[in-house]
Amino acid sequence: MKIGVLAMQGAFIEHINALKTLDINGIPIRYKDEIEEIDGLIIPGGESTSIGKLIKIYGLGEVIKERIVKGLPVWGTCAGMIILAKHIVNSDITHIPLMDIEVVRNGYGRQLGSFSKDVEIKGIEGGAFPMVFIRAPYIERVGEKVQVLAEIDEKIVAARENNILATSFHPELTDDLRMHRYFINMINERTNR
Ligand code: GLN
Repeated sequence: MKIGVLAMQGAFIEHINALKTLDINGIPIRYKDEIEEIDGLIIPGGESTSIGKLIKIYGLGEVIKERIVKGLPVWGTCAGMIILAKHIVNSDITHIPLMDIEVVRNGYGRQLGSFSKDVEIKGIEGGAFPMVFIRAPYIERVGEKVQVLAEIDEKIVAARENNILATSFHPELTDDLRMHRYFINMINERTNR
């Protein structure tokens, strides 16, 4: 199994390392042809404006969109969630708008918006998950086909729409690999179908 990690900007190395711990080959993605050969894609956290601009410059948007529409499992963490959102409450720019969610960028504030909290996630066994938030977005509204996986004070912080997974927090910055395993399962479910 090969999982691509979009390597434009942000926390891509941390995701590749987490995958390595699970014996999975994480491939940094920078060019179009690299997208053909992957079984899943992670869009990391960072700065969604920069990631969005670089996706455009490298001409990756359409190719990624096509593969996701055809069923490629994709997981956006933090800025990655913003990249995949169809609606961004406080911005006119969307990037790869495929997930029917409405996100609030920098939902917890810009500077003092970093915190961590242990929260239960639907579909993840073994107790609450240590969620690390860094100037994170949250989901304000989801479409009918979107399953809410976790919430904090009525703010949605994890959700899934078929092959698209989005989390507000950064599992790659903790030692807890359950969220990465969950995504690997999404890929296995698809290939075993
Ligand atoms: N605040 C960033 C943005 O709007 C996201 C922060 C993150 O990915 N940790 O893109």
